[in-house]
This record gives sequence, C-alpha cells and structure tokens, in this order.
Amino acid sequence: MSKYDYLVVGAGLFGAVFSHEAALRGKRVKVIEKRDHIAGNIYTKEIDGIQVHQYGAHIFHTSDKQIWNYVNQFAEFNRYTNSPVANYHGHMYNLPFNMNTFSELWGVRTPDEAKAKIQEQKEAAQLSGEPKNLEEQAISLIGTDIYHKLIKGYTEKQWGQKATDLPAFIIRRLPVRYTYDNNYFNDTYQGIPIGGYTQIVEKMLAHPEIDVETGVDFFAHKDEYLKEYPKIIFTGMIDQYFNYQLGELEYRSLRFESEERDVDNYQGNAVINYTDAETPYTRVIEHKHFEFGKGDKNKTIITKEYPADWKRGDEPYYPVNNARNNALYKQYAQLANNEGNVIFGGRLGQYRYYDMHQVIHAALVTCKQELKSK
Ligand code: FAD
Ligand code: UDP
Repeated sequence: MSKYDYLVVGAGLFGAVFSHEAALRGKRVKVIEKRDHIAGNIYTKEIDGIQVHQYGAHIFHTSDKQIWNYVNQFAEFNRYTNSPVANYHGHMYNLPFNMNTFSELWGVRTPDEAKAKIQEQKEAAQLSGEPKNLEEQAISLIGTDIYHKLIKGYTEKQWGQKATDLPAFIIRRLPVRYTYDNNYFNDTYQGIPIGGYTQIVEKMLAHPEIDVETGVDFFAHKDEYLKEYPKIIFTGMIDQYFNYQLGELEYRSLRFESEERDVDNYQGNAVINYTDAETPYTRVIEHKHFEFGKGDKNKTIITKEYPADWKRGDEPYYPVNNARNNALYKQYAQLANNEGNVIFGGRLGQYRYYDMHQVIHAALVTCKQELKSK
C-alpha cells in the first residue's frame, strides 16, 4: 500500500484546492500532472515582465465572499474589470450588451429607446414560448441586429455548430444592461492576481505532505494506481477514465498563437473579440493590459485564440453541454458512483462549464464531504 492517503490526478485548480485542504488536515497527498507544469488552464508564465495567460484570458470573478477571501489567501488581486470590445468588420462595439453598444449601433440615447428597439426586433422575429436554443435566447434578449453582428459569427466559430443547435444557457453567461456600464461580469468581486495565477496553485501545493510530479499521465499506470492508493481524486476527462465505454462526450478545443510585437500598446485593451464569421480567431488577448504599468515599454505579447474541433489526444478546453452530452454524462456519473475509491472533480471530471470560482466552490464541497471526519 502507498504511503499516501490520496492520489490527485491533475494539478489544476480543483486538484490543488483538494490537495491543500487535505494537507491542512495532515493527509499525505501525491499529485500527478500530465503537462510539464502545474496550474492546469490557469497557468500563467512571465515573459518580458508580462504575465502571459498561456491557456486564454482568465479573469477571476465571484459574488461569494467566502470564495473571494479564500483565493485572496494565495495572491493579492488588482482592480482589473473585464471590458472586452467587439470588432465586427472593423467597427468597434462595447461589450457586454449595454447602453454603449445600443447607442453605437442605433444612435439611441436612453434605456427606453433601446428597449423599444429591441422589442421591435423581437416582435419581427416572431418568437414564441421558452427559447429552445442559443439563437432564440439571444434574439429574445437583445434582438436581431446584435445577434447577427456580435453573437452568431462568434458563437458558430467558437462551438463549430449552428447557434440553433446550441443550448440557450451559453449566451445567458453574458449580461444585458440598460446602463452605460462595460463591466463584463455582474459579480461583486473581480480582479487579476498581481504576479499571475501560477503562484496561487504553487502556494496551495506548498506543503511537506504534498508531493507533485509533472509529466505523468494517469492512464500509463491506471491499474497500479487503483491498487496502490486508498483514494483517488480524478480531474481529467470522465469518459476517458471509463475508456469511452458508453461513447465519447464532445469537447471543444482551442489553438493559441502568441506573438511578440515591438510596440508598447498594440490594441488598447486586454481582450478584443472578433465577432464576424470570417476571421478564423475569436479573440486577441494583449496580456500586459491585465496588470497595470507592467512590462517593457517597447514590447507587448498578444495571443490569438482559434477555436478547434476536438479529437482524442487534443486538449479538451470546453465541455459541450447540450442535451445529448448531458444525458451521456449522467450515465458516466452513474458508473462513477460505483467506483468506490475514486472522486471525479473539476471541469473535465464533472463535465461542467465551470468558471474558476465555481471550481473552487465544487472542490471545497468535495473536501467537506470527504475530509469531514478525517
Ligand atoms: P484544469 O485546469 O483543466 O485542470 C485539470 C488538470 O488535469 C490539467 O492540468 C490536465 O493536464 C490534468 N490531467 C488531465 N488528464 C490527466 C491525466 N490523465 N493524467 C494526469 N493529469 C491529467 N474561468 C474564470 O473564472 N474566468 C475566466 O476568465 C476564464 N476564462 C477561461 C478561458 C478559457 C479559454 C478556458 C478554457 C477556461 C476559462 N475559465 C475561466 C475556466 C477555468 O479555466 C476553469 O474553471 C479551471 O481552470 C478549471 O480547473 P480544473 O482543475 O477543473 O481543470
Ligand atoms: N459570445 C458571443 N459574442 C461575444 C462573446 C461571447 O456570441 O463577443 C457568446 C459565445 O457563444 C460564447 C458565450 O457567449 O461562447 C460565452 O462567452 P464567454 O465570454 O463567457 O466565453 P468563454 O470566456 O467561456 O470562452
């Protein structure tokens, strides 16, 4: 038998929170991670004095004070407020959908004028009943002009599917506001950790009870691990764990292309979305704008985010939570319930479109159940 109480598979946020909490209770934890670094998708790396978000822009936001206090133990956060701007065929619009967007688009000045315009477009679209898909949900929230200029092209390239085949909840992530407020989130607390996200996971894992090994894939020695460790926390793909025996869940992947530019300020904002269908990328991130006044004045790093189909072996960045996949996930969750000494957690283990605060919350719930009497 192993000298460890737990094997944690994956050194992302879920695995790190669990490991930290277990170590605080005197448990011995082995963490294995298949990438050559810790922190999963929140990994940031310093280049030219700039914290580069290696797996896409990550902005921490939550309305849960406990989660905010929890994460603030591991880093100091700045006052960054996410305010992406959309570029549609060269025309710039503020996001999320708010009075600045409506005014730029239609020349309206007041909330009542904007509401009237949207109502007129909704009526012309003749929708009835509950929105059945993302397209209907979007039109019923903000009308056809915004749907066609700021949503349809972006959404269909991001997900590789028609908006009429996608679940409505995806677009409800974005606020619609009748005020001149470009804050992308409604949450009470928001910011970027000064010095990057990697330090958060580093500090969570910095206990004598925790041993971390990177570059190790669980599936290379699955049977041995199952025999050796009394309990496993698995944060990889749940369908892969079961050798896809019930069929494959769908994921969406991404390709990131980063470039260094010899200018101080390339695009004037951390995030610019390209919402037309023709541009092959969805967003361009300029990392230095996440932290104020940092980095070389004559250099900047930008990253273009290209959506990509997922096939086995690719990085599964997003679960595709449509009805078919959610039903299949439920069947895998049944199998997981019978897998006595394995707990499945995180975006891939629970097949949920979790943001960071939700992953921390889910991990703390698991800790409460698993570690309560220990
Ligand atoms: P992960 O970070 O994926 O960690 C799982 C780890 O397990 C990975 O490191 C993986 O390599 C490892 N692993 C998998 N299989 C194995 C195996 N077989 N053996 C060993 N190791 C394995 N959230 C926000 O709150 N705000 C944002 O702005 C935001 N932006 C995002 C942008 C993008 C492009 C993406 C993809 C996500 C974004 N998120 C954001 C979500 C955020 O990344 C996740 O909520 C969080 O990182 C999930 O943590 P996790 O531990 O569940 O998963
Ligand atoms: N979206 C869009 N236009 C935009 C930004 C977002 O249509 O300019 C849609 C798109 O379907 C996307 C969803 O809203 O997948 C959620 O956006 P979010 O920014 O939360 O995506 P994430 O950061 O999770 O990729």
